[in-house]
Amino acid sequence: MPRPLHALPKAHLHLHFTGSMRHSTLIELARDQGLHLPDALEQDWPPKLRATDERGWFRFQRLYDIARSVLTRPEHVYRLLAETAEDEVAAGSRWLEIQVDPSGYATRFGGLTATLELMLDAAGRAAERAGIGLAVIVAANRIRHPLDANTLARLATQYAGKVVGFGLSNDERRGAARDFERAFRIAKRGGLLAVPHGGELMGPRSVAQCVDDLGADRVGHGVRAAEDQWLMQRLADRQICCEICPSSNVGLGVAERDADVPLRRLFDAGVPIALGADDPLLFGTRLLRQYELAREVHGFSDAEVAELARQSVRSSTAPETVRKELLQGVDDWLASPPAPSPAE
Ligand SMILES: [Zn+2]
Repeated sequence: MPRPLHALPKAHLHLHFTGSMRHSTLIELARDQGLHLPDALEQDWPPKLRATDERGWFRFQRLYDIARSVLTRPEHVYRLLAETAEDEVAAGSRWLEIQVDPSGYATRFGGLTATLELMLDAAGRAAERAGIGLAVIVAANRIRHPLDANTLARLATQYAGKVVGFGLSNDERRGAARDFERAFRIAKRGGLLAVPHGGELMGPRSVAQCVDDLGADRVGHGVRAAEDQWLMQRLADRQICCEICPSSNVGLGVAERDADVPLRRLFDAGVPIALGADDPLLFGTRLLRQYELAREVHGFSDAEVAELARQSVRSSTAPETVRKELLQGVDDWLASPPAPSPAE
């Protein structure tokens, strides 16, 4: 019997704020406020999505916006983060970097600054209660004006320490990476990691643009780097991590089946990987499942799964003491005897 994956310490570096909400919480908050949810978020959950064309992506975003609309009061933000932190701990996640675009909530919670402060406070409390390290990544929206991204980057740097990274999300096919170069320069100068999405809906070139134009320290997804040997070599040489989200790739039609996610290819090429759940609320699975898929579908041994966990920790912004502790935990996990089979 293999070692239990929930006991393997890991860092979770690709999870979105609204997308981390428990499905049961979405249902409850909608009901309490008399909000109607589409079938895809209720009886037909998780939704079947296909975001490889613009229509499909629009539908995905639309469901995301509906989910966001149930979060109307500060206590909802506290609840969401408290539950997410609990779920992370249950999956063996000991360090979480959660991504949020405060502009999506600014009108509700008193402006950009107030929204970010609310989220940081909720994150701090959730972390303490659950016993997990929890940092925030502020993400700009690719389909908005680049000037908005500059504003967000400046705001994010004011909270450097609690905010650890600056991201860029939404439809990769709209808004070239280089349009956001200035925002990323502001963020990096302010001490934040550059963690834009790329190489999910678009191919390897999009990953290269994140690296070359935005100085990406990690790439959100980056899964399609696997289509380019030379690019993989570059990512490996420079130890630029790809935040690979297998269930999300299948959920959005980026990969046809679980086995089509090129996890093994990227791993064997030496590209650092941090497995992520992206949006459990829309894809139906959390972090633990991503590690299970590595084992069950991609044939990763315990030693290899442990290496995935190490890579997630090394690619994180966790402070040195936390990092050491987690890496030691990974070694201990691997040194522990495999679980006895039920017959013994
Ligand atoms: Zn994402």
